[in-house]
Amino acid sequence: MRRLRKVKVVATLGPASNDYQTIRALFEAGADVFRLNMSHGSHDEIAARHAIIRQIEADTGRAVAVLVDLQGPKLRVGTFARGEEELEDGRNFRLDLDPAQGDARRVSLPHPEIFQVLEPGAELLVNDGRIRLRVDDCGKDFAECTVMVGGTISNRKGVNVPDVVLPLAALSDKDREDLIFACELGVDWIALSFVQRAADVTEARELVAGRAAVLSKIEKPAGVKAFAEILAASDGIMVARGDLGVELPVQNLPPIQKRLVRQCRAAAKPVIVATQMLESMIDSPVPTRAEVSDVATAIYEGADAVMLSAESAAGAYPVEAVTTMNNVAIEVEGDPTYREVIDSSRRIRHETVADGIVAAAREIAETTDIKAICCFTESGTTAALVARERPHLPIIALASQPATARRLCLTWGTHCVVTDTPVERFKMAVVSAARAARHYGFATAEDQIVVTAGVPFNVPGTTNILRVAPCDERLIYRAELE
Ligand code: PGA
Ligand code: MN
Repeated sequence: MRRLRKVKVVATLGPASNDYQTIRALFEAGADVFRLNMSHGSHDEIAARHAIIRQIEADTGRAVAVLVDLQGPKLRVGTFARGEEELEDGRNFRLDLDPAQGDARRVSLPHPEIFQVLEPGAELLVNDGRIRLRVDDCGKDFAECTVMVGGTISNRKGVNVPDVVLPLAALSDKDREDLIFACELGVDWIALSFVQRAADVTEARELVAGRAAVLSKIEKPAGVKAFAEILAASDGIMVARGDLGVELPVQNLPPIQKRLVRQCRAAAKPVIVATQMLESMIDSPVPTRAEVSDVATAIYEGADAVMLSAESAAGAYPVEAVTTMNNVAIEVEGDPTYREVIDSSRRIRHETVADGIVAAAREIAETTDIKAICCFTESGTTAALVARERPHLPIIALASQPATARRLCLTWGTHCVVTDTPVERFKMAVVSAARAARHYGFATAEDQIVVTAGVPFNVPGTTNILRVAPCDERLIYRAELE
């Protein structure tokens, strides 16, 4: 089983996608990475979903990545006795520290720090800015507000306070517990929310201690400002447009998205464009034209992945949403304009042997009739460098470590395979690359592939071989004898 597109699809799991059948259907429709949100699920629920994903991986023989998203210092309201309430314009609504379930007049906001810094006149934005509350009166454990713009408020909806600088640590106690739990579970990516500086990433990375890759969500003005340092400290990035579009004017998002995507490609680190991509599909089987265009834009820009949030986690059409992304991707990537845009934005400084080899691999493969670039990758770095070239043809990433293959599921264009044969000799490496290319339907015995590797094997950062090879094993052996 292989994908017919380069861009990856991240699907968030939730109540609408909890069981084996649904998650399997999402995978088959095109989800490459599953996102588990620590803001919503309990540890037991997260562990159950993780086990289902690993089962699907075993049943299909395909690497799948699990991304755990830490809540971060995000303010969220508590829960409501009825699950949700309608807030009407002009009414009063109270936020406080009382853990009792909320109703139409009040709800808890379990963050004592926020009440310390709130002042009358401040605006609180709830549910991605849909609901606006103005603070009329406040104390150390409450805020009396007027509903300026009403709407439906429901359990654990997010709250932004753009007017106030919040004295919040990068990782809350809950985040630390969730991070340790996720690492012990064996997830592939840990996403950090509301990253504001590189030190936030370094702090988390120390706790992760190499057990997962670390992704920074850019969703605060401070994160945009310090982006270069944050990118250098991270393994991947999410353009988290939900909160970013509340904290900054929405019209600032498109240029920021373009800039961040371009910088991530230059750094050979995967970038996800996230939030509201197919929002209307939460309750409609078809997307709006504008949403289709938004998904397409992210793909034209060269993003590694596009993401579904509530569409796959809580919507009525989770599988249709993945299918829609898949279909849009196939159409965009088949467009000659897409190739033009991707090729003309290849601005890469070649500094190392590996840079030169991956660039040559793309040149050779695109010049002649080659079916795939097969790259042996220990840490995943070489595969990421090949992906940065954005070649027209498939990239088969052959990793000896399952963890490397899984992490690479987020990286543009890579078909990730775990090589079970230890490849001590280069000839055997070529044989297993050719087998993988044939097995996954990328090539037949008559075709040729390009193989890159580093000798000695199993040492990260040694890419030093580039070989054009036949896919027919007899020819590979014969060539070696000559
Ligand atoms: P969230 O992050 O869904 O966890 O809020 C994404 C975003 O803010 O866009
Ligand atoms: Mn967010």
